[in-house]
Amino acid sequence: MSNTIQSVRGFNDLLPGQIASWRHAEQVIASVLDRFGYREIRLPLLEKTELFARTIGEVTDIVEKEMYSFDDRNGESLSLRPEGTAGCVRACMQHGLLYNQQPRLWYQGPMFRHERPQKGRLRQFHQVGVEVFGLEGPDVDAELILMTRHMLDELGIDGVRLEINTLGTSEARTRYRDALVEYLAAREGELDEDSRRRLSRNPLRILDSKDASTRMVLEDAPRLEGFLDPPSAEHFAALRRLLDTAGIAYTVNPHLVRGLDYYGRTVFEWITDRLGAQGTVCAGGRYDALVEQLGGPSTPAVGFALGLERIVALLEEQAGDHPSPGPDIYLMVDHGARSGPGLVLADRIRRTLPGANVFMHCGGGSFKRQFKRADRSGARWALVLGEQEAMEGRVGIKDLRGGREQYTVAQADLIGELSKLFGG
Ligand code: ATP
Ligand code: MG
Repeated sequence: MSNTIQSVRGFNDLLPGQIASWRHAEQVIASVLDRFGYREIRLPLLEKTELFARTIGEVTDIVEKEMYSFDDRNGESLSLRPEGTAGCVRACMQHGLLYNQQPRLWYQGPMFRHERPQKGRLRQFHQVGVEVFGLEGPDVDAELILMTRHMLDELGIDGVRLEINTLGTSEARTRYRDALVEYLAAREGELDEDSRRRLSRNPLRILDSKDASTRMVLEDAPRLEGFLDPPSAEHFAALRRLLDTAGIAYTVNPHLVRGLDYYGRTVFEWITDRLGAQGTVCAGGRYDALVEQLGGPSTPAVGFALGLERIVALLEEQAGDHPSPGPDIYLMVDHGARSGPGLVLADRIRRTLPGANVFMHCGGGSFKRQFKRADRSGARWALVLGEQEAMEGRVGIKDLRGGREQYTVAQADLIGELSKLFGG
């Protein structure tokens, strides 16, 4: 065992037993997005490093120390995507999706960050991301929040609370930053090491610190609210009215900032206390300046990302594992010579009975052993094609979960018989 190769730390396998909950989450979320009229876009996992440096921000944790970057064979620096927004904006610009259109898009898939792996925090993790371009809001901001509420409801996830905040314009943030730095610098000794480092580089991120002493210091810190420009304040007030009308409860958290530089105005997070420190299951906000910053036309934008690992963890905690369903039918043949007819019969059932899940036994062996396998597979019915049945043009049916004796039907009548069994 000692020299077998293991997976890369923080890169998890999802084993067959876990797939049912993942598919359930993915399907519910995709179906909600469909019903809101959002359109899926599929984006590459690898982009030019420069794309992330220019969007997420040079002095953010992600770009400073979390990206999987490497020089490819042509000497160009590439990075595994740490998030999806930058690539989505890049694709929209590249394909002219931002002219005279207000696309509402979504994507899903793995993201990569070199963080310390722990429960709910991986190096390869999965997000569903949603991005809307060309709409200033606050109606669309409210729609995104309503949509996330709808997803959580349809997934049956409760106990997740909404926090919102506004970051104002970048001018407002600059004025606020100065005031915050002045306040924090005077109490630098009480800050944790990370926060001291951020003081000169990215002071707003200190608001997000989880360190107890730093949080104490922050209690009396100046608040962004006092520095807000009137249009941003009105945007935020309108958003709150819309959420009130929609009956969505929230708290305003003046310390809510996002770890990426491009956000302004609305930011929001859905948070649970049930996943320890990794409690944010969904986070998003407005990034009106980003498209222009990347050389595109001035385009307001807003989006969010859901962390699928955390969503699935909540589902599993609430409902236990979704058991992986076994096949409906386990088809067994006793002999190599009957493999051909068996394969054909199994596929005929799959083609004619919609939804029927037929597992073909391969590899031979006695019927006794095959029945054991069939039983372990979780199948409901076994079909038996042995020497006797083949000679008579019949097939045996055994209810693996009921008391009824094995019986046979003519192969020509099999589909009709199975339809009856499926119906009843
Ligand atoms: P956190 O504060 O938890 O590090 P973040 O601010 O870095 O989150 P975003 O970049 O906004 O997160 O990503 C949106 C969501 O993606 C998060 O709310 C979380 O659910 C999920 N997520 C982010 N990083 C990870 C990770 N390393 N492992 C698993 N899920 C993650
Ligand atoms: Mg993070």
